[in-house]
Amino acid sequence: MPGRLLPSFVRPSVSHHISFSSRTNSNASSSSSVNEIPHDSLPSGKKSAAHMLADRARSPERRLSLAVEHLIHPHRDHSKDKRRGLSRSARSKDRAAAEEKVAAAKLDVIVESPPLVCYGAPSNSTGALFSGRLKITVADTAGTLTLDQFEMRLMSKMTTKKPVSRDCRNCASRTDELNHWTFLTEPLALKSGPHEFPFSYLFPGHLPASCNGSLGQIEYTLAAKARDVSGEEYTFQMPLHIRRAILPGNDKSSIRIFPPTNLTGRIVLPSVVHPIGTFPVQMTLSGVVDKGEETQTRWRLRKMMWRIEEHQKIISPACPKHAHKIGGEGKGVLHQETRVIGHHEEKDGWKTDFDTAGGEITCEFEASINPNAKPVCDLDAPGGLEARHNLVIELIVAEEFCPNRNPRLVTPTGAARVLRMQFHLHVTERSGLGISWDEEMPPVYEDVPASPPGYAMLDGGSAMEDYHGSPLALPEYADLERMDSLRLDSASSRSGSMHSGRGRALTTDDLTAEPDSSS
Ligand SMILES: [Zn+2]
Repeated sequence: MPGRLLPSFVRPSVSHHISFSSRTNSNASSSSSVNEIPHDSLPSGKKSAAHMLADRARSPERRLSLAVEHLIHPHRDHSKDKRRGLSRSARSKDRAAAEEKVAAAKLDVIVESPPLVCYGAPSNSTGALFSGRLKITVADTAGTLTLDQFEMRLMSKMTTKKPVSRDCRNCASRTDELNHWTFLTEPLALKSGPHEFPFSYLFPGHLPASCNGSLGQIEYTLAAKARDVSGEEYTFQMPLHIRRAILPGNDKSSIRIFPPTNLTGRIVLPSVVHPIGTFPVQMTLSGVVDKGEETQTRWRLRKMMWRIEEHQKIISPACPKHAHKIGGEGKGVLHQETRVIGHHEEKDGWKTDFDTAGGEITCEFEASINPNAKPVCDLDAPGGLEARHNLVIELIVAEEFCPNRNPRLVTPTGAARVLRMQFHLHVTERSGLGISWDEEMPPVYEDVPASPPGYAMLDGGSAMEDYHGSPLALPEYADLERMDSLRLDSASSRSGSMHSGRGRALTTDDLTAEPDSSS
């Protein structure tokens, strides 16, 4: 019987190959979506292609590579390129022209703050402090560069991978500006060489961490832009990765019952687990023996399986243009997906005790997430992206029968059960040695009192003064009462040192729990 249940236990994580069985909670992706109307934007293909080309020409990577090439081959004669055919010469001419302009100035960001980690839950995290310097390097060849615009923006972008209208950028993502820096109030002339502009920002603790799930994505980007008086623009962009770490607390203990049997499962799990590394799971199954006058029935554990499920959920909104597809603005389409990101099967490794009242089966094992599964940490973003995890444990128990007189005379009754238990697992980043920014900061001005706290500040009911009485005698240890309460268990009572110590002063040797040969 149990053998038949097993093959369907773990499913591949590809949601399209679901073999439907009686199990309800399996790998599945569901979309309560409205029917998608084939979409109609005809010029968008052309437009985006042209746009892409323009983007590429302007991209900092391209400029960078040209600048690097210039460094490597400073004396390269670009006029030679002209002899290499018509189309090529036209391109290299463009390149040479671009190189001239690119060389004028270069932007860069130097990050000074430690990796961005929000410690604690979104509701009580103090956030992550981000600080650095925006650097603009004016090339020697440019002489003086006069900027009339110099600014930087910090943006968050939430993308759904299941947009209401395919290919509509506005349906797919929403960008919010978190902060904006304007470094200039009037045109600024910069000499050749590097110039730095410091900045800082406190990422609020409630912001969702960066993530890239199968249904949605959350990204943060820092984008700087400078423009000189001739209209030439210089840009720089870098992604910022924000993580969240919930600090581990006490282990969590949960109980599940399985009526109408007397079986009770008790599980002890860590309060948080991490995408990489194993974590211990303690399991106790009690109520496994049902003892009658002459005979008993009992459950024997035959197999144990565990798996870690990841549930992702997103509500895809529609842009104003496509809101009609889902019945008006302010609505969204819910998409859900569940996949298995770790699993294992044990056929032994537990302890069975049928002798104590009710009987008990105990087991401890290590579980882990498969790092190749690219797990998404627990997340509940305000925009509707959610990720959470469950540990599912399935036990296959078979019933057997035996007379009380001879418990070795076992007969299987043929009954078998699958006990399924599900527990929430909180997957979070490791906190490592990091501490929150507000805990590593020295006290701020307002927190520092006018003077050091005085001793007179003790509460009214207590006071303290110097002792001027007669010299204090050392206590006579021999007169002290025997301390029976120190006898904690049978092991320590075996040591006779406390008893033999009576009548003389105790020494440190008496306090060690070694068996006393003199007694
Ligand atoms: Zn749209």
